[in-house]
Amino acid sequence: MAITRAECQALDDRDPLREFRDAFSLPPGIVYLLGNSLGALPRHTPERVARTVESEWGVHLGASWNTAGWWDLPQSTGDRIAPLIGAGPGQVLAGDSTSVNIFKAVAAALPLRPGRRVIVSDLDNFPTDRYVVQGAADALGSYEIRDVGSLGSQDSTGSPDDALADALDDDVALVLLSQVDYRTGAMRDLAQVTERVQAAGAIMIWDLCHSAGALPVEIGAADFAVGCTYKYLNGGPGAPAYIYVAPRHQEAVRNVLSGWHGHAAPFAFEPDYRPAPGVRRFATGSPPVLSYAALNASLDIWEKVDMHQVRAKSVALTSLFVELLDELAPDLELAGPRDPERRGSQVSYRHPDGYPVVRALADRGVVGDYRAPDIVRFGFAPLYLRHVDVFDAATALAAVLSDESWRDEKYAHRLAVT
Ligand SMILES: *Cc1c(COP(=O)(O)O)cnc(C)c1O
Repeated sequence: MAITRAECQALDDRDPLREFRDAFSLPPGIVYLLGNSLGALPRHTPERVARTVESEWGVHLGASWNTAGWWDLPQSTGDRIAPLIGAGPGQVLAGDSTSVNIFKAVAAALPLRPGRRVIVSDLDNFPTDRYVVQGAADALGSYEIRDVGSLGSQDSTGSPDDALADALDDDVALVLLSQVDYRTGAMRDLAQVTERVQAAGAIMIWDLCHSAGALPVEIGAADFAVGCTYKYLNGGPGAPAYIYVAPRHQEAVRNVLSGWHGHAAPFAFEPDYRPAPGVRRFATGSPPVLSYAALNASLDIWEKVDMHQVRAKSVALTSLFVELLDELAPDLELAGPRDPERRGSQVSYRHPDGYPVVRALADRGVVGDYRAPDIVRFGFAPLYLRHVDVFDAATALAAVLSDESWRDEKYAHRLAVT
């Protein structure tokens, strides 16, 4: 074998991020390669949530809106997320879900390009992005959706985003893309695509769900961005999402979900809406305080992390996984880029029986997931995964494929959540 388990152990001993594993509570005996779907639980999150429940809620009750900073949670939490996407204070608001924030961003962006009637969307994007754009295009006044396919998912040299260039013209108001493809892990050049879209006069909205916490993000000149915090950022199931609004747009744009939490004077209880200054206007209703408590606990960890070290380790782990499987399961078809510079922190393979393969693998203690129609996905969260975990996962996957244990009938039945 190209590398032994002992050599992986040696790499772990030298890993500058090795201490972070202890900051997470991981169930024993499993290799968790699903941090790209639901990030692991930080060890101090339960205590932090308990304090919010028992003291802030249980003792101080409604006073906590002031004394515990509940009212400001969308902004204060957004300011803690901002450095992870290369943004500054007052540019990110945490709240709602990614889906809702996509609607807010699209609705805010369209009036910035009056007269342009086309929204460019990606056929390969996560379905909710597409569904929300479809709803928004109708609700906001008969916009046309122009779909481009397979952007950035090729591994060849040349320009994978040629399809995007073809889609851009004077009618395009905005472009909504994910930086990292949720199925294949293929990654776009954020700065280059932003420049190209803006050169065509359109607004660029990025979905960073598979970027923030997985790699260093420089939001740069982009107009808007959205993302979730329950994947690589470990905020917990259903944790608040976020929206980034470039400072140059903040006073010009409107939040169509103009609720009282985004009002300029919410406690004046005026009959008519007036937007709060800055990114706060993108708040809508009461924040889920307990979820913010969990998210802020994980951000305590992220504050101490050097994202360039995270990226270096992510590249090492995903490359190791691919190399091991090249050797152990040479027939397995890689679904994403072979060049680690062109993928996020995820490796995917195509297998016609991907679902039972993933289930059989889970029974060997390796947790990945399946995405229809034929993708087997593995996410690599560098803060808590070790090289030995990658070694164990690759050997287990190779074993499931070679002994065909996935053919057992018990793996055929699909659970509701795959
Ligand atoms: C995970 C993910 C979402 C999730 O949206 P929610 O509103 O949080 O359910 C949206 N877009 C992309 C690209 C994702 O990967």
